[in-house]
Amino acid sequence: SPLKKALITGGAGFIGAWLGRALLDQGVEIVALDDLSTGTWPNPTLGEPEGLTFVRGDCADAALVARLVEGCDFVFHLAAVVGVRRVVESPLRTALVNQATTLTVLEAAAAAGVPVLLASSSEVYGPLATAPFREDDAGSFGPPEQGRWTYALTKAAGEQMAFALGRERGLPFVVVRLFNTVGPGQSAAFGMVLPRFVDQARRGEPMTVYGDGEQTRVFCHVADVVDALVALARTPSSWGRLYNVGGVQSVSIRDLAGKVRERLGSDSPIRHVPFVQAFGDDFAEARHRQPDIGRIAQAVGWSPRRGLDRIIDDA
Ligand code: NAD
Repeated sequence: SPLKKALITGGAGFIGAWLGRALLDQGVEIVALDDLSTGTWPNPTLGEPEGLTFVRGDCADAALVARLVEGCDFVFHLAAVVGVRRVVESPLRTALVNQATTLTVLEAAAAAGVPVLLASSSEVYGPLATAPFREDDAGSFGPPEQGRWTYALTKAAGEQMAFALGRERGLPFVVVRLFNTVGPGQSAAFGMVLPRFVDQARRGEPMTVYGDGEQTRVFCHVADVVDALVALARTPSSWGRLYNVGGVQSVSIRDLAGKVRERLGSDSPIRHVPFVQAFGDDFAEARHRQPDIGRIAQAVGWSPRRGLDRIIDDA
């Protein structure tokens, strides 16, 4: 499908900047919208490339978004309040911003008939899901007792909204549930575990492992994630569905700390911190989080190419 000009919301953020870089390299014109609440501009990943228009603004501004969507043939909606730390600190703001930005973008895309890719999250599966997570797992919107983050709730609502607008207004859309995505340019301030370990190991500070460290995660290099997003955008036959996008190599958080320590040649001690101390009493997280990526593999032939060692070296 012709991809000539794309709008990227959250275009000055971690994944948005990598996506913009990749699309520019493919000759696609980019409009990047970002309010710089956490994003950076000028952006070291993007540089100051030709073919890019940067707009500093609020993605919940309906008139602005409608104007930017006009003239684009695809929208990547990545703007959101992200990161466990931020979500814990301001759950209501997270919900309001994520809800308002997503509804605004979906509405503008539906009105203009421009296809949109929505960045959802593995958090939608909730803490009780059993790995590997599959897109058609029953009850992923789940009972409220599953206790999800406000973040996850607004992501889940966004997904449902995209499907609803697809039915009611013929909105062309595709939803991706991103699993832990890492790579150069990601801030340790988000509280995501790998950049935090790398930061702690570099400083020679204790590497803090929450709980027993036996919980497992998969990590995916941002360059692989971007390949997946672009492949979906370029393949209309894949639209109208949701896809897991994530790594394949499962690793326990304790082993991850050890691996980071080893590859960075750091002598940081590894320190276990109780979950409760780190996040509060009612904190619940999936013990094992891993995607089944069979659906996207089948739809566009994507699977991640960069392994854990490369991911750690690049983090
Ligand atoms: P990020 O914080 O680096 O990027 C988000 C960007 O959105 C930031 O630049 C921020 O300034 C911008 N933004 C926030 N509110 C805005 C608003 N109202 N108007 C305009 N811009 C606004 O995070 P990221 O890791 O690049 O995440 C991108 C998307 O992927 C998000 O939707 C996130 O929920 C999703 N996601 C990321 C991961 C991950 O591991 N990084 C995992 C699951 C889902």
